[in-house]
Amino acid sequence: MTPEDSHQDIREAVRRLCTRFPGSYWQALDRERAYPAGFVKALTYEGWLSVLIPEAYGGAGLPLSAAAAVLEEIHRSGGNGAACHAQMYTMGVVLRHGSDAQKQLWLPQIASGELRLQAFGVTEPSSGVDTTRIATFARRDGDRYIVRGQKIWTSRAEYSDLMVLLCRTTPREEAARPSEGMSVLLVDMREAPGLTIRPIRTMLNHATTELFFDDVEVPAGNLVGEEGRGFRYILDGMNAERILIGAECIGDGRFFVDRASAYAREREVFGRPIGRNQGVQFPIARAHVQIEAAAGMVARATDLYDGGRPCGTEANMAKLLASEASWFAADMCLQTHGGFGFAEEYDIERKFRETRLYQTAPIPTNLILSHVATHVLGLPKSF
Ligand SMILES: Cc1cc2nc3c(=O)[nH]c(=O)nc-3n(C[C@H](O)[C@H](O)[C@H](O)COP(=O)(O)OP(=O)(O)OC[C@H]3O[C@@H](n4cnc5c(N)ncnc54)[C@H](O)[C@@H]3O)c2cc1C
Repeated sequence: MTPEDSHQDIREAVRRLCTRFPGSYWQALDRERAYPAGFVKALTYEGWLSVLIPEAYGGAGLPLSAAAAVLEEIHRSGGNGAACHAQMYTMGVVLRHGSDAQKQLWLPQIASGELRLQAFGVTEPSSGVDTTRIATFARRDGDRYIVRGQKIWTSRAEYSDLMVLLCRTTPREEAARPSEGMSVLLVDMREAPGLTIRPIRTMLNHATTELFFDDVEVPAGNLVGEEGRGFRYILDGMNAERILIGAECIGDGRFFVDRASAYAREREVFGRPIGRNQGVQFPIARAHVQIEAAAGMVARATDLYDGGRPCGTEANMAKLLASEASWFAADMCLQTHGGFGFAEEYDIERKFRETRLYQTAPIPTNLILSHVATHVLGLPKSF
C-alpha cells in the first residue's frame, strides 16, 4: 500500500482543513515572514499534531503512517507543515527515554496543545554536521544545570514553550568516545533568563533562529534519560523525522505535478495546449514517476518503523529520494508555467523555495550518501 492509499479518512479531513488556508493565506505570510498561527491553531484544535502521542497521555496513539498522511496532505494542498511538524515528533525523545514523571507531566499538555514542544537545538555554527563537535556545555551545579553556548538554525524557538537541547556534559576529549558525553535537556524557554533568541531571515518562511545561552539554569529534573547518552537518544528520533520530511516532499511533488498537469492542459500557445507538446508533457510524466518511486521508499521506511524494525538506512534513502524528486518536480513546474511560475499568486515560486530546504535539512544529501556508502556498501569512511 502506498502512502497515497492509506488513511483516506485522515487525508480527506486534512484536505478539508487546508481549504480554509488557501494560497493567498500562505502568500501573505511569506511576504512578511510571519508565523501561520491560525493554521497551527486549527491543526492543534482538530488533534492532528498529537496523533503520535499514545492515548494514555491524551493523544490519538496512531502509527507514523498517519502522521505522514497528515503532512503529505498539507504539502499537497499548497501549505507547509514546517511551522509545526516538530510538535508531532519532538516529544518522541520524552516518550522513549523520559521518566514516568516527565511523561505524566509533559505529554498530556503537549497532546492538548497547551504546551508547545517544537524546538530542538542540535546544530551549532562551528560543529556543522559533525554533531560530536558541539560545544554548548551544561555544567551540573547541585539540583540544576548551567548552560553556556550557542545553537544555530533552531527553528520555531519563538513559537515553542519547551525545547529539546543537545549539549555536552563531558568535554569531547574526556569522553570515552566522541559520541558519548552529550545529554538531552528539556529547556523551558518561558522561564530562561540568559537565553537570547535571534531570528534568521532566510529564503523561505521558516521561523528559524539562533540561540545564545548565557548561563541559563535548567532544573536537573529536566535531564532526559541518562547523562552522557543524549546523542543516542537524538539519533533514535531522527528516523521518524526523516520519514515525515520525506512525506512532506511527496506532498510537494504531487502538488507540483497536479499544478503542472492542470496548467499544461489549459494553457494554449500556437493554437494548442502546451501539454500536447512532448517537450512539456515528458518532464511532468518524469516528475510523477520519480515521486511515485520515492513514495514507495517512504512507505517502506514507514512500514519498518511502524513494525518496530530497524529503518535507519531506509529512512535516510526515503528522505534523499523524496527531496530530490520534489526538487525536480518544482523545477519542472516552474518551467511549465513559463513566466507565470515566477508570479507570487501562483504559489509555484514559494513552494519551489520551500521544497529546496529538504536537500540540506535536517540532513544534507552528502551525509546520507556517506551513510549508504559506508554502512551499507562497506566502503571506507572518508572522515
Ligand atoms: C531553514 C533551516 C532550518 C533548520 N532547522 C533546524 C532545527 O530546528 N534544529 C537544528 O538543530 N538544526 C536545524 N537546521 C540545521 C540543518 O540541519 C543543517 O543546516 C544541516 O544539517 C547542515 O549543517 P550545516 O549547515 O552546518 O552544514 P555544514 O556541516 O557546514 O556542511 C556544508 C556542506 O558540506 C557538506 N559536507 C560537510 N562535511 C562533508 C563530508 N565529510 N563529506 C561530504 N560533504 C560534506 C554538507 O553536506 C553540506 O552540503 C536547519 C537548517 C535550516 C537551513
